[in-house]
Amino acid sequence: MVKLNQTYTYDEIMQCIYELECRFSDLLKLSVIGYSHDERKIPMLQMGTSEKCLICSAGIHGRESINPILMLKIIEDYCICPESGSKLLEEYSLCFLPLMNPDGYEIALCGYQSIRNPIYRHTILMDGIPYEEWKFNGRGVDINRNFPCKSFRVQGRMLYPGSENETQALIGVFRQFPNSVGYIDFHSRGQIIYYFRNAMPASYNKESERMAKHLQSLAHYDLGSSAEEFGDVSSGGNSVNYYSEIFKKLALTVETVADEAVFPLDTEYQIHTYEEIKKIPFSFLEKYSKK
Ligand SMILES: [Zn+2]
Repeated sequence: MVKLNQTYTYDEIMQCIYELECRFSDLLKLSVIGYSHDERKIPMLQMGTSEKCLICSAGIHGRESINPILMLKIIEDYCICPESGSKLLEEYSLCFLPLMNPDGYEIALCGYQSIRNPIYRHTILMDGIPYEEWKFNGRGVDINRNFPCKSFRVQGRMLYPGSENETQALIGVFRQFPNSVGYIDFHSRGQIIYYFRNAMPASYNKESERMAKHLQSLAHYDLGSSAEEFGDVSSGGNSVNYYSEIFKKLALTVETVADEAVFPLDTEYQIHTYEEIKKIPFSFLEKYSKK
């Protein structure tokens, strides 16, 4: 059983993933979509076999440490009660990427000594950031600013879009499923769902708003305004921008946990956050299938 209200290291997250795959081998397929720069596996669990999948990712930012285990709990939940979605899972599948940035996750939980590569470790230590606030990958790049899209800007250590292993791994999944029906990226802080994509036409944003409002009513989260979505120049290059611009399908950002939460995120956030978001992936497919 995936237990909540406790901290999981990277190895413990992987252990949970292996156990889920073993327990629900008829429903889940585990694959490794790539390796982080410090050579940790980036896992994917696919539920169902359809090429028409909803892709869900978590843990792109290291310090946002509760969404990975919540995603595993959601997978377990869906596997225990597949009848609720078995019809849906004949036509669609769910691709879960619970831990996109394993190096950053491990730093935020355990400190900089968890980076084994001495060059990377030395480089990121020079940033002087308290380890529990670390959101970058194992060599100090914000993966969620690294995607090749209209809003990409060179910033920090990043020289070109798609430079990072983790970015390439996620792009690889998007390309592996050209018939995917949408993408949800789970982040932390704000209890808000963002749907507006500046580079996309009004018709796209209208449809995206409808889906976001549906999911928002389940989670009781706020809806991000289009003005907030423009952000500042340092906020572009996100995975949702890339996915929406290339594949023209819905790409939503779900921010869990209250805005005032501090890092490291208290494990006490896990149970009620799980209740808030557990229906989101299936409900996306339900709503999508009725359009
Ligand atoms: Zn984030």
